[in-house]
Amino acid sequence: MSTLYDTERLKKADSASILHPATVVADVAEKGPRIIAEGKGCFITDTEGKSQLDAVGGLWCMNIGYGRPEIGDAMKKASDQLGYFHTFAGSSNPAQIQLAERLVAKMPDHINKVFFGSSGSDANDSLMKIVWYYNGLRGKPEKRKIISRRQAYHGTTIASASLTGLASFHRNFGLPIAEVKHTSLPHYYREAKPGESELDFSNRLARELEDLIIAEGPETVGAFIAEPIMGAGGVITPPEGYFSAVQKVLKKHDILFICDEVVCGFGRLGDWFGHRVYDIRPDMVATAKGITSGYFPLSAAFISDEIWNVLRDGSATLGAFAHGFTYSGHPVGCAAAMANLDILQNENLIGNAADVGAYLHTSLREALGDHAHIGEIRGHGLIGAIQLMADRDTKTGFDLKHKIAARCVAAIGELGVIYRPLPTADSLAFSPPLCLTRNEADQMVDALRKGLDQVIGGLNSEERKGLAA
Ligand code: PLP
Repeated sequence: MSTLYDTERLKKADSASILHPATVVADVAEKGPRIIAEGKGCFITDTEGKSQLDAVGGLWCMNIGYGRPEIGDAMKKASDQLGYFHTFAGSSNPAQIQLAERLVAKMPDHINKVFFGSSGSDANDSLMKIVWYYNGLRGKPEKRKIISRRQAYHGTTIASASLTGLASFHRNFGLPIAEVKHTSLPHYYREAKPGESELDFSNRLARELEDLIIAEGPETVGAFIAEPIMGAGGVITPPEGYFSAVQKVLKKHDILFICDEVVCGFGRLGDWFGHRVYDIRPDMVATAKGITSGYFPLSAAFISDEIWNVLRDGSATLGAFAHGFTYSGHPVGCAAAMANLDILQNENLIGNAADVGAYLHTSLREALGDHAHIGEIRGHGLIGAIQLMADRDTKTGFDLKHKIAARCVAAIGELGVIYRPLPTADSLAFSPPLCLTRNEADQMVDALRKGLDQVIGGLNSEERKGLAA
C-alpha cells in the first residue's frame, strides 16, 4: 500500500462525525467503519492493507475498474479550463454538449434529448416530474400516478424511495407518496404458480398490471417504471415475454415507460443498455453510476421526441421549465463521463462483459448448480445473484431472521472476495468491474463455493429448517 494510515484514529473520527447511509446507526457508531483507501482494477484495499476482489463494483457502478488515471487527467483538464458554470437560463458548456451528443447517439432513434443531474435518484425524480409536466401540458393533469414493482430499487429521495418497492425504505418515513403504486414482482422462480409456464407467468403479471391500472383509473396513471434486470431487488431477470406483454398494456392505456438503466446501463449486461437486450421501447431512460463508473456523481435522464415536442410547444404558455440542479451538466463530471466512455469503447469492455460474463455464469452453474441450498443462479453479462434455499426441492426459503446471506458474504469476504447480500431476496449478488478476467472470475467462484460451504455446513438444526414460501 502506498500510504500508511492510522486506522484506529480514523475509525474514531468517523464514528464521532458521520451519519452513514444504509447502515444500522448504532452499529457503526460502536464498531467503527471499514475504511477503504485504494483501488486498482477489480481490487480494493482497506487502511489496514487488506485487499479484496470487489465483485460488486462498489454499488454496481465501477464499470471500468479502479485506479484509471485517464479519468483524473480528464477531470483536471476540465477543471483547469472551467471548474464550474451553471446550465440554467440557457447557459451551456462544451463538455456537456459533447457528452450529450455521444450519449444520445447510443439511445434508440426516437430519444434525442438528455437532462443531466448528479444521481440515479435525481434522474428518476426528474423523469417523474417530467411525466407530470408533460401530462399537464397535454391537458391531462390528473395522469400522475407512477406504477413501479414490488422489491424494485429506484433510489432514496422522497419520490424515488416511493418508487422503490422495498418496505425498509418506506417504513419510518411515511412513504410511498400517494402517486406511487406497486405491481407484481416478476421473479418466475419464486412467484410462479405450480405448473405455470414462464410465458403464462408473464401474461398473468401483465394482466395484474392492467387490473391495477383499471382499478386506479387509466386516466390517473402516467408512467410505469422498471429496470431491465432488477438490481438491488434481487437481480431478477425478466421472464420470457414479460416486457412485450407489459408494453402492450402500457400502450393501450397511454402510459409512458420509464426504463431505469442506472445499474444496467453502460455495459453491465454485455450491451450498452439493458433495453436493447430485452426489446424495450422506452419513452424515458434514467442512467447514472456506470456513466462515470462512479468516479464523479453524474446522472443522465433521457426523454423521447414526443415528450420533448410537448415540452417545447408548452414553453409559450408555461415559460421556464422550472426544474434543474446547481450541478446539472457539470463540466468536470461530463469530462469524466467522456473519458469513461473512451475506456469502455477502446478497450472493448462491453464485449468483455459479455464474454467473461458468460464464462462466469457457466462456471457458477458447473460449480454450484447441484448445491442443495442454491435454488437459482441468475443474471446476464456481469451481473447475477445466487438464490439461497433451505430446501430447494420443496422451494423452502431460509428464515430471513438468520441473515444467512449476510453471513455467507462475510465468510466469502474473509476469503478475499466481496459479494453483496440482498436480504429481501435472500440472495448473494455480484456485478464486478467489466474488466474482470477469467482468472478473477475463477477466484469469485472458488471463494463463493468455499464460503457457502463453510456457513451452510455450520448451520444448526433450527437455522437449517427454513420457512415455506
Ligand atoms: N436506480 C437503480 C436501479 C439503482 O440501483 C439505484 C442505486 O442503487 C438508483 C436508481 C439510485 O441511484 P443513486 O444512489 O445514485 O441515487
